[in-house]
Parts: sequence; C-alpha cells; structure tokens
Amino acid sequence: MQTAVIYARYSSDNQTEQSIEGQLRVCEEYAKKNNILILGTYIDRAMTGTNDNRPDFQRMIKDSSRKEWNYVICYKLDRFSRNKYETAIHKKTLRDNGIKVLSAMENIPDTPEGIILESLLEGMNQYFSAELAQKVKRGMRETRLKGLYQGGGLPYGYKVVNRKIVIDETKAEAIRFIFNQYLLGIPVREIIANLTEKGILYKGKPFAINTVYGMLSNEKYSGIYKHGEEVIDNMYPQLIDKEIYESVRHKIEKNKYGKSSIRVPYLLRKKIRCGYCGKPMIGESGTARSGEVKRYYKCSGKKHNNGCKKSQIRKDELEDCIVNAIILELSKPDIMDSIVAKIMSLQNENESANSTLTMLLNEQHGVEKALNNLITAIENGIISNTTNKRLHELEKQQEDLERQILVERSKKSIKISESDIRKYYTQALQSEKTLLINILIKEIILYDDKIELYFNNPTSKSPDESRGFLFCSYNTKIVQEKENKKPSITDILIEMYLG
Ligand SMILES: [Zn+2]
Repeated sequence: MQTAVIYARYSSDNQTEQSIEGQLRVCEEYAKKNNILILGTYIDRAMTGTNDNRPDFQRMIKDSSRKEWNYVICYKLDRFSRNKYETAIHKKTLRDNGIKVLSAMENIPDTPEGIILESLLEGMNQYFSAELAQKVKRGMRETRLKGLYQGGGLPYGYKVVNRKIVIDETKAEAIRFIFNQYLLGIPVREIIANLTEKGILYKGKPFAINTVYGMLSNEKYSGIYKHGEEVIDNMYPQLIDKEIYESVRHKIEKNKYGKSSIRVPYLLRKKIRCGYCGKPMIGESGTARSGEVKRYYKCSGKKHNNGCKKSQIRKDELEDCIVNAIILELSKPDIMDSIVAKIMSLQNENESANSTLTMLLNEQHGVEKALNNLITAIENGIISNTTNKRLHELEKQQEDLERQILVERSKKSIKISESDIRKYYTQALQSEKTLLINILIKEIILYDDKIELYFNNPTSKSPDESRGFLFCSYNTKIVQEKENKKPSITDILIEMYLG
C-alpha cells in the first residue's frame, strides 16, 4: 500500500482561509479515496505572512530524506509555499527523495503541461472571483454584516456606539489634518511636530512615524473595509474623502519605490557556467554615463582574475534568448499538439468525479454535521466560551464554502475550448518564464560563440511516469552559432540528441 504524510498550514493573515481541521479532513478523505495510508501529519499553525520559518515544514523536508513514505498530501498547493517558484524548488527536493506532492483539492499533476493548465485556470479563477465577489458581496452584507462592529482593534478617530462604528470627532480632526498636510508635501516629522505643538498626542505620547504612515494607508478612513474578497462600505463612516485617500496612497507608493532602484531578478542565476573556465556566471550591473543602469552576466572566474577571457553578455539579451529557445521548443507543432491534448484531458478529468466541487460538497456536508452536533450540545445546556467560538468558526467556514461552491458551480458550466487553449498557450509560457527556466533548464554553458542549453531529465521511477515529462525526457542542446563575433540572438539552431 502506498503511504503518505499530510502537510497543513494556517496563516492568520488570510481570514478566508480553510482551518487546519478542515484541511486535514479533506486530505484524509482524499487519501482514503485513493487507497493511501497516512503515516503522520506536519502542521504549521498561525504563521504570519512575513515569517517563512515554518518549523514543521522544514522538519517534513528533512524527514523526507529517510524515504519512509511515497507522498506528501496537502489541501492545496499554495499550502506549500506562497509562490510557485518556491513550490517548484521544494517539490524538486522531495522528488529527489522519491516523494511526490499531491494536492487534495487540485487535480493538477506536477508536469510542465500541468503548470500551463494551472496558469490558465488561475486566470479563469480570477475572472470568476471578481465577478462573483460582486454578487456575493451584496448577499453577505445584508445577512451577516449589517454594518455592525465585529470586534477587534478600532482605528484612531472612531468609536463604537450601540454596536455601530461612528466618527469620534474629538480625534477625527487630527486624522484630517495628517492627510491634508501630507498631501501638501509637509514631511511626516513636521506633521508630528505640529500635532505635538497643538497638544494632540497618541496614547499620551507624540505620534510615531510608523503610526502616521499606518494611518495614511488605512483604507477604512475612506469608508472602505476589505475582508478577504469582500468589500464592506457600510461599517466605517467615511472620515477622509475617497479622492484625498487615493492621492495620498499614490504619493506614498511613489515615495517608496521612486527613489531606490527596483530589485531586478537575474532569471538564470545558478544555472549558467562559463564555457571556458567552468566558473559560474554572475549578475552584475553598472550605471552608464547617461544614468541608465546596464545589467550583465559576467564570468566569476574572470572577475577574480583567473585569466578567463569570457566576455560579459547583456542580461536582457541572454534571458530573452533562453526564454525564446524554450518557447520555440515548446511551440513545435508536435509538442504543442500533445500538450494541448493533455490539457484538454486534464480539464475533463478535473470535471469528473474527483473534482473540486465534489470535495467542497463533501466538506460542506461535514461542516453541517459538526454544526448540528454543536447546536444539539448547546440545546442540552453544554454552553461555554469554547463552544461559542467553535460555533462562529463553523459558521464562517460554512459561508466560505458556500462562496467557493458557487464559484465552482459556475466554472463547471464553462469549459476552455481547444482553440482558446492554443491561443493562451504562448501567453501562458511567457507569463511563467521563471518557472519554466527553473523546471526545464538544468544547465546553461556559455561561450562567446555559442550557448549550450541542457534540459532537465526527470527523476522518474517508472516509464509510465516519465511519459508525463514530455519535454524533459530528453536532453536538448541548443547551439547558437555566431556569425561575426557578435552573438545574433535571432538565429537559434536547435540540435537534439537523446540523453
Ligand atoms: Zn570564465
């Protein structure tokens, strides 16, 4: 029998998230359905977004080297990491240990075509969420929120009267002053000095700079409160004109990003070596006399004076060349046909019995049962703070589920056509550059007159599995011939040989 562990994570910063218990339940159901034995669980609770320490996750990765189980099951792949790039790296580590990651909610395999499908589905999700958020918003506002104070911290300038949030005029004037002054270009330090002079303090002390910036970017002052995807506009009375708030927001962003240069990722880092001395090529930048920043890949051997003669190459040119080579490769008619066919069949699979909708409906059933049990307990007089808290949790979960089910139901009625898939195919490849490079490229060896590009070989265990890695299952050597000493990026010659 195949064996697995479950990894679950709950981050407190996303309020619409599935609870740990919910995640575990879905994963267990998934395992049962697929005849997989669960050997243990790894759980990271309430880790904040900025803290990527996740002790149990690290422990799980470490334990994976003992190769005692075949799979890691998670509720959704986003439990794994906040971005796809990291997810790909972690998955690779596990794959090296012979372990596969399974997502209980998403039936998308860990293959290039899976990734392309995922990015298409993501676009659809966004579309549906945006449209449905509008509809759901109205319903929720009427039933649940009614604009009443829900507890929690109240921003400076507001107070609660009869469960309704109202403007505290004794403090609101300070907020208006701060926004107006900032918009006039008065430095925050000076604004604080002015307030202190007027005797306006924050908790008995002069305002801190961070506090003021926090206020300037608090959307609630403009009357808008965002709760996950919901936009609630009847809870906080408007203290700052919407237009003023927006102008301030733009100004803060401009000041934040305008001065310091934006960090530019070197997509090929850690993948390229110099063809002459074998040392890694590293990212370098310099500012031209015109003030324009120019970025290069440079041989680290040459940089440390090992005598290597490799010339540096413009970052954009090299990256474009590599990405184009990959896209060219993936756009060959036979490869494209086979990927499109795969995506179509994945889409059909997703719709069948194993679909997200079925999972959600099962989960809804579970939550309803738990709610009924709890209500029975309350009716029998077993009431405590914890039951009350649990009741709210379950109700919240029920609402989230209803919303997700609504989204899935509407998605089911729309299917991406084959011609649409073809249309979006190249776009999807373009938007996943980093991921494509990380998953598909094993190594790039750079000469002045040619580029050798090696694709990854899958570490598949059975021939059946390797079929999934359609275009990873051979080594491809892309040789870029140079005509007159300068690399011409457009002429790419692809030579393939079986690895
Ligand atoms: Zn070199």
